[in-house]
Amino acid sequence: MALTPGTHPPLRVAVLGCGVVGTEVVRRLVTEADELAARVGAPLELVGVAVRSLDAERDPVVDRALLTTDAESLVEKADVVIELMGGIEPARTLVLRAVEHGASVVTANKALLAQEGPALYDAVDDAGVDLYYEAAVAGAIPIVRPVRESLAGDTVQRVLGIVNGTTNYVLDSMTTTGQGLDEAVADAQALGYAEADPTADVEGYDAAAKAAILASLAFHTRVALADVDRTGITGLTADDVTWAGRTGHVLKLLAVAERARAADGREGVLVRVRPTLVPAEHQLAAVRQAFNAVFVEAEAAGELMFYGRGAGGSPTASAVLGDLVSVARHRVLGGKGPVESSHADLPVLDGGEARSRYQVRLEVDDLPGVLARVAAELAAQDVSIESVRQTLQDTDGDVSATLVITTHTAPERALRSTVDAVAALDVVRAVVSVLPVL
Ligand code: NAP
Repeated sequence: MALTPGTHPPLRVAVLGCGVVGTEVVRRLVTEADELAARVGAPLELVGVAVRSLDAERDPVVDRALLTTDAESLVEKADVVIELMGGIEPARTLVLRAVEHGASVVTANKALLAQEGPALYDAVDDAGVDLYYEAAVAGAIPIVRPVRESLAGDTVQRVLGIVNGTTNYVLDSMTTTGQGLDEAVADAQALGYAEADPTADVEGYDAAAKAAILASLAFHTRVALADVDRTGITGLTADDVTWAGRTGHVLKLLAVAERARAADGREGVLVRVRPTLVPAEHQLAAVRQAFNAVFVEAEAAGELMFYGRGAGGSPTASAVLGDLVSVARHRVLGGKGPVESSHADLPVLDGGEARSRYQVRLEVDDLPGVLARVAAELAAQDVSIESVRQTLQDTDGDVSATLVITTHTAPERALRSTVDAVAALDVVRAVVSVLPVL
């Protein structure tokens, strides 16, 4: 049956936040009103836009008469609330209030979902409304829906990818220009790719929140931000990037969520964010600038790849509008979308259980027998060596060697103990870096 706009009363839409994403969402609500009404089967009436400041400069597409600082009252008169404020509070309280009043919610707020997801999912379940959040992970890239809906009949084994455009931009700049981290971050800030306070991106919190959301969906298990084993990019140097290139790799900040078995045989999930050496010929190595890419490996489907713009007002608004059309159609036709499922309830394993190849870079004395002593420490922890590369350097007559050791697959816990033991050797001047290899 064709949906005929006009036979259903308008759906009242409230937008919370009118920043980078909110403005683009408002623009599309205004300029695409007829097309959206046809797709939904009812007109969408924008009933208000909540902001902090009524006086701030706004894009002319935003009708100032719709602006309000009273977000609490606004959510109570909406059928659909689009939360684009960011942060935990007051976003959390407002989303819960909207749900209590029977509104469906669309949000792009990964921090809120990763930290408060369970409480929100329970609330929408009780209220029988929708909570959609495609834009919270990898901006414009459809990844939440494929994992939540398209792969609902398959068994996902692993989800991995580049889910933070800012750090990808920074690492890409370091790779192509030889810049140090601080310089690359400053450039990213000047170009609008990084925020004035880049902590959430460079420390890996943003990627960890997205990894938690994807892991929860993929493994039908509640995974919170605190469950994610996270390392950001702040420890990386221009030298790390140069050595990555010399050994045929590119450094990327990867989020990885996978089914795994612990040493004691328990099945669980491992979720981590790590700067990782990606082989130069791997598709992820070709993900440049602020782009995102996510690989999903499922038992029956095999490997799937999703690639595109992970941020920006217009791309993110695309994902928000897609969700809006879905939840609005449910209100017109009845029913609701799939709920979050946590029936598998797998344990989240400690990061030490992760297994990977590693590249360990050491600065050592240039003496006979050094490699043998380092190799003996690795062997003592059952970490076997795949390859070693040695380079000599002479600093004003002080000759030292750089050893780049690539291991075979080993548990991270064993690798950590090995590195501690190697660092304690008198011939080892420094453990310069330890990085997993994809
Ligand atoms: P933004 O530019 O900082 O805009 C935030 C908006 O929320 C502003 O309009 C601000 O009002 C309003 N706001 C903040 N706190 C408020 C409060 N307490 N009461 C009322 N209004 C409040 O943020 P954004 O970049 O659009 O991001 C919005 C959400 O989308 C975040 O959850 C973010 O993680 C997510 N997201 C963003 C992107 C992206 O590319 N930007 C991509 C994916 C997901 P004022 O204008 O008055 O200050």
